[in-house]
Amino acid sequence: MRRGGRALAAVAAMGAAVGTMCVGFAAGGAGGEAEPAYQVVDLHVDVPYQVHFKGRAAKLPEGHATARTLKAGAYGGIVLPIYIPDKARKTGPLIEDADAILATIEGIVRDNPVFLPLGAAEAVPGRISTFLSIEGAGAFADDITQIDRFIDRGVRLISPAHASNTRLASAATGKRVDHGLTELGKAFCARVYARGALIDVSHVSDAAFADLVPIAEAHGAPIVATHSNARAVAGHPRNLTDEELRAIGKSGGVAGLNFHAPFVTGQAEATLDDVVKQAEHMVRVAGVDHVAIGSDFDGGIVVPVGLEDASSFPALAARLRKRGMAQGDVLKIFSLNALRVLGWRPAKAGAAAP
Ligand SMILES: [Zn+2]
Repeated sequence: MRRGGRALAAVAAMGAAVGTMCVGFAAGGAGGEAEPAYQVVDLHVDVPYQVHFKGRAAKLPEGHATARTLKAGAYGGIVLPIYIPDKARKTGPLIEDADAILATIEGIVRDNPVFLPLGAAEAVPGRISTFLSIEGAGAFADDITQIDRFIDRGVRLISPAHASNTRLASAATGKRVDHGLTELGKAFCARVYARGALIDVSHVSDAAFADLVPIAEAHGAPIVATHSNARAVAGHPRNLTDEELRAIGKSGGVAGLNFHAPFVTGQAEATLDDVVKQAEHMVRVAGVDHVAIGSDFDGGIVVPVGLEDASSFPALAARLRKRGMAQGDVLKIFSLNALRVLGWRPAKAGAAAP
């Protein structure tokens, strides 16, 4: 099988499904169908963390993302992160931790009929396409070639650090150091792009972001921050500067709107209107083609009032529309922009790639 082929087939299938929806939308407006006018493709939902580390049942009976809330929120696609905590072990995480968490994700997908199998080649109405990412890939400094087999299994987005600095990159919330990507980290990022997956900058430092820009450019790769907001609106190091948002836009990438209250407002609390403010700023700076959804649901977040769980997307859509955002733009933010980056392929990776 071609490298990562199944995951890309899933993206194509989702894209076709959303495209059909768009046509329906353009043709007649509200049409009386039960199906909502948009779907959500969420770039970051931490249910694997809850199941693997926090004892939640794989059938997802509770939390922000359950079969009921995901359906009510019109989810059509979900990225399930292989999140490897920096403190997974006293001596630091190992690559085998990523294998174990991936096995947990396979169990979650198997146990919930709402999810389509990883890499399913067809989108099915009422079910959710599933995609993989790695959050906190520092352990791969042990052997960066090991990332290949995860990309082969469908991982599309990879962040080289989480909360703390790794041997690949300094983190947004890590100790101050005088480097961004390490030399090994640069080689790692180039390898990820060459193999057809993307680097996720959500948790890396500004210096690491800056180091990545020329590497992404050399590979024609979009820069993606799966779950980060605008720092101009909420002054948190996990958020993106306007300059970074513009670089994301220029690269063809996306920033995924994060619902964690401190990332929305810079304060302990937030409301649905605050999330809309973030979205509007991000659209203004990066462009409407470069904002997506990365809710961070079930990632231990403080949810905004009015966006309590995955079922809240109709409320967000309604508020954005009320503020004057075009339906087509809501559709872009909710799903189309995410699908574009999930479906990215390196320009030169032809059939002959070894
Ligand atoms: Zn995160």
